Formats: sequence, structure tokens, C-alpha cells
Amino acid sequence: MLTPSLEDYLEEIYRFSLSLDTVRVTDISNRLKVALPSVTKALYKLRDEGYILYERYGEIKLTHEGKEFGYYLVTRNQLLQEFLALICSKCDFAAEAEAMEHYLSTATIDAIKTLVDFMKLNPSWQQAFKDFIVLQS
Ligand code: CA
Repeated sequence: MLTPSLEDYLEEIYRFSLSLDTVRVTDISNRLKVALPSVTKALYKLRDEGYILYERYGEIKLTHEGKEFGYYLVTRNQLLQEFLALICSKCDFAAEAEAMEHYLSTATIDAIKTLVDFMKLNPSWQQAFKDFIVLQS
């Protein structure tokens, strides 16, 4: 099990890996606004857990496990943002998903995914829900 902070590192490394051939410590440091020594420390932990290959000052490469878990983390974040939009929350979707993602159980994430999938397949239900919200306000 990774800590929420380490999950965020892996999530960002995975995001970068989708658009960059080489992910570097400075990319992660800039994106997460964390000092280089802290990033390096986190990278060693991710390496010890088997998610990345990393040598000091070197490139960061995701292992097979790192790619799989990174993909899960990124899709979980997207799912929660979709969910927040679906329930018409007036929150900041990105910030709220960031706060929720580490604390929900897999069972709840799965249930939310089923609800989001169901609503996508049934736009009339989605509309009925939106109409209901308007009636409430
Ligand atoms: Ca995150």
C-alpha cells in the first residue's frame, strides 16, 4: 500500500509518461511543487516498492506494475471528477477529486464507476436528475 503522497507521485509520473519519452525529477518537482530532495526520497520509495526504475540524477521509468497502478490512479481521478460533474456539485472538481481519491475504498470507487457508467448509458435519467435539482432550488 502506498501513502496518499506516494500515490500522487506515481499518478503524476504516469501522466508525464503518456506525453514524454523521459520523465525527470525536475518535471515531478515542478508539477507537484515539491523540493527536489523530497521528490528524490519519494522516488526511492516507489523504486523499493517496485513501481519505477530510478537511479540518482537519472531517468524515471515505470515498471509493468508502475504502469498498471499509475493507469488505475489516473482513471480513478478522472472517474471522481466525472462523478462530481454528474451529481452537479458546485465544487472545484479537480481539487475535490484530489481530496476524495485517497480515502475511498475500492468498493466505493467501483460503486461510483457503476453509477457513472449507468448514467452515461441512460441520459434521460441524468436529465431527470438535473430537472430534479432545478426543482429543489
Ligand atoms: Ca492525485
